[in-house]
Amino acid sequence: MTMSLVYLASAVGLVQGLKYMGDPTRAKLGNTVAGVSVVVALIAVAWANGNAGTSALSIVLLVGTILIGAVIGKVWSDRVAMTAMPQLVSIFNALGGACAVVLGLNAVYGEGVVNGKFPGVVLILGGIFGGTAFTGSMVAFMKLDGRKLPRPVKAYKHIAQALLLTMSTITVGYLILATGTIPFPTLLLVISITALLYGVFFTLPIGGADMPVLISLLNALTGVATLMAGLLFHDPVMLIGGILVGATGLLLTTQMCTAMNRSLSHVLAGSFRSSRIPTNEVEQDIRSITAVETASLLAFSKQVAVVPGYGMAVAQAQRECFALQEQLRQNGVDLHFIIHPVAGRMPGHMNVLLAEANIPYASVIDMNAVNGKMEYYDAVLVIGANDVVNPSAENDPTSSIYGMPIIRAYKAKQVIVMKRGMAKGYSGVTNTLFDRQNCKVLFGDAKESLEQIITELKRI
Ligand code: NDP
Repeated sequence: MTMSLVYLASAVGLVQGLKYMGDPTRAKLGNTVAGVSVVVALIAVAWANGNAGTSALSIVLLVGTILIGAVIGKVWSDRVAMTAMPQLVSIFNALGGACAVVLGLNAVYGEGVVNGKFPGVVLILGGIFGGTAFTGSMVAFMKLDGRKLPRPVKAYKHIAQALLLTMSTITVGYLILATGTIPFPTLLLVISITALLYGVFFTLPIGGADMPVLISLLNALTGVATLMAGLLFHDPVMLIGGILVGATGLLLTTQMCTAMNRSLSHVLAGSFRSSRIPTNEVEQDIRSITAVETASLLAFSKQVAVVPGYGMAVAQAQRECFALQEQLRQNGVDLHFIIHPVAGRMPGHMNVLLAEANIPYASVIDMNAVNGKMEYYDAVLVIGANDVVNPSAENDPTSSIYGMPIIRAYKAKQVIVMKRGMAKGYSGVTNTLFDRQNCKVLFGDAKESLEQIITELKRI
């Protein structure tokens, strides 16, 4: 009874923590509440095992591994560069999937817990979702980290389809054949290995602009795998955690699909756009601008917008964005932030950074709310964004990002793009925004450029 209450409290804490995370001002509190709830649940599990007569060695092993995991997680998270956060999130997601596979195999090989079809199906689904999430997230990690992977070939998609068919056939076969026809441990091992391979071949061909959809989908798969483990072990915290991660992951996937103008059915059918293939080099007509010129342009504007992108995260320029907003406010200029849902390298990347810099949420404008009236802005500062403002997504059917809704910065009276050189964005597509007559490039690290602009604005 007491244990059930503790589990219930942990579950409520998890849900409440997640709820707080939806509000940037309470996101940190949400993280703490969710973290404390998990720790409470872990202590309760260790306690319950102690009371149930589990050997002292097992308890020591349980507590020891939890502590080792906690220390590794803490050190890793502290040391990771902010720009490598999406990769870290992918690895953590991969570990969740791997846990589901190991737990399932251990339940069968170690404890022999398969009484009836229901636990069997739960184990099979846990193996499929967990295995796919594990290797899929590892490949996603390598893609986000810019590692060289084998060139995407159509064969990968066919191999993935064959593996999916194999897993479906085994699952249906298990459901209709009499129990015991095929030894269950062998069946689960085969399905787990197939799922691990499927994760690799399913993820390898995906890339370019479709990565955000993939990341949130893998996240959802880990959630569903955890849910299966919760069902199997009758563990309410695991069950609720799995439901939350699975449901939020699915919601995020549908949101990312909308952001990329892709249908979920296409995504689930594996009909992704191919990995990034750099477009041919084309001569571009680039006009550059200095920080001093940018400052005077801003000072004589009424309405300005910032479009942040991955480069803002690289430069860690979010606090300078806030300082710019404050300075412009003193100069009588209104500054909005327009965030594209897939800007950066993980869903919500830009929102988190702007919230960290205390930028008021009221000044963050929905891209769909302003895209039809971008002419209203005297100037748009594109800070380290590239793909999300690339007009080829609207007017070049041969482009790999064609169809992706963009922030129509090109429609503003003036566009200033801050970047260090002429590198392309994540998709590898040439940005035709730079050819527009109203576009100028302010070369340099975004943080340094912003500092120079603010200094000059103070002088004006
Ligand atoms: P992009 O990757 O398109 O462009 C980033 C730009 O930032 C580059 O042009 C780069 O140019 C510039 N940059 C890098 N460092 C700095 C710096 N220190 N100072 C100034 N500029 C800098 O970013 P977007 O945010 O526009 O687009 C995101 C892309 O990532 C989309 O294609 C999306 O699909 C993909 N993606 C998104 C994920 C998500 O979940 N959000 C996950 C995975 C991929 P230069 O080097 O010349 O400075």
